[in-house]
Amino acid sequence: MYKSVILFALLFISFQVKIIGQQKENTYIKAGFLYDSKSNKLVKNKLIQIQGTKIISIGEFESLPLNSPVIDLTQYTVLPGLIDAHTHVLFSQDANEDFAKHSVHSLTMESDALRVLRGSKRAQSYLYEGITSIKDLGNSGLYLDVALRDAINEGTIDGPRIFASGPILSAQGGQIYGVLPEHQSIIDLEYRTIKSVEDAKSAVNEHVNQNVDLIKICADNLPNKTFLTVEEMKSIVKTAHSYNLTVTAHCVTNQSALNAIEAGVDGIEHGFNLAESTLVKMAEKEVFLVPTENSKWYMNRYAKLAGYDESELDWINNYMTKMEQRLSKSIKTGVTLVSGSDNYTDINTTRGKSSKDMLTYYFEAGMKPLDILRSSTYISAVQLNKENNIGYIHPKANADIIAVKGDIKNDFINTINNIMFVMKDGKTYVNKTN
Ligand SMILES: [Zn+2]
Repeated sequence: MYKSVILFALLFISFQVKIIGQQKENTYIKAGFLYDSKSNKLVKNKLIQIQGTKIISIGEFESLPLNSPVIDLTQYTVLPGLIDAHTHVLFSQDANEDFAKHSVHSLTMESDALRVLRGSKRAQSYLYEGITSIKDLGNSGLYLDVALRDAINEGTIDGPRIFASGPILSAQGGQIYGVLPEHQSIIDLEYRTIKSVEDAKSAVNEHVNQNVDLIKICADNLPNKTFLTVEEMKSIVKTAHSYNLTVTAHCVTNQSALNAIEAGVDGIEHGFNLAESTLVKMAEKEVFLVPTENSKWYMNRYAKLAGYDESELDWINNYMTKMEQRLSKSIKTGVTLVSGSDNYTDINTTRGKSSKDMLTYYFEAGMKPLDILRSSTYISAVQLNKENNIGYIHPKANADIIAVKGDIKNDFINTINNIMFVMKDGKTYVNKTN
């Protein structure tokens, strides 16, 4: 008895020492330039205090306590970890493959175990590009995105913070076109088919029950001709919002975007064919747009891998011009732009690298460097209702901090791709500064 009291006392003391020790464990980052993503400004010489997974304070270099551990990033520009608001880490196809055929192949010949293992490697590659959070929007089997998110959060594997949508809610057939009636059940392994207004409500409840972070819908399924009705989408939005979940809609046609906006969605993905009047409506209703595009470099590489002849690459320039016009119209009308890649094609580089190409596209299409950064950090976090945690380096936020080498304002592409340092939740994943 006596012994156990002493033992307990010793344990208690060591526990106390441990707690005090943890409280004192501060790490400091000296930032040459710090990007303030809220005010969209670069500020010089700032000291970031980090304790565990959190940022504690932002101050001046002079306030650095003696003998404190310091990460010296005075030669670099320090940014919040980037956010890709449209990923599919559990899906990959080759450039010359057909989406529907590949989906059927994957659903029948790739086990969930293999799919998640492959997906986890793709997810991890985002970290090394400074993308510390991703919004994974379906084509991920039955909640494999949720499983991957949880494995990363519990520290089982390394990867970015994942906001998972679960299976996409869509009309009959999903995006996997051409499947015979007797094989339609395969669609249910990848999409949540909505059969009625009431079923739309059930689908959201099922997703809530499986702990998704947001709801992704397909307002249209092109080239499959089915689409969700306004009433079905209204039911989805109403139910999702009652759980504080946002709803974002894949829209290829202008009409499906109009329907989705009428139903009250929070965001539109792609919106390749949005009319100017639709953009105006989006600006008025504060519906954000995720323009998922790629740079000229990417498109050329993709076209070569897909088997296009050099002589027939004119469409790339036409396509790029159209998309540049769309982006500048969106900016002019005041639509909130959120950065998202939607990259799921293997172009012989890591998924993180090919997804980061979206930043090059935004730059080529005329967005200013700091505006691109803001769309990839603060604005993206706001749309996730997470601006207190990510996308903005400020006290109490998660310590998701990256550093790049170069002149971010005048040499954007080279600089944003020159990653020197990556920290997520206070843990360092990349440090090339030594
Ligand atoms: Zn997508």
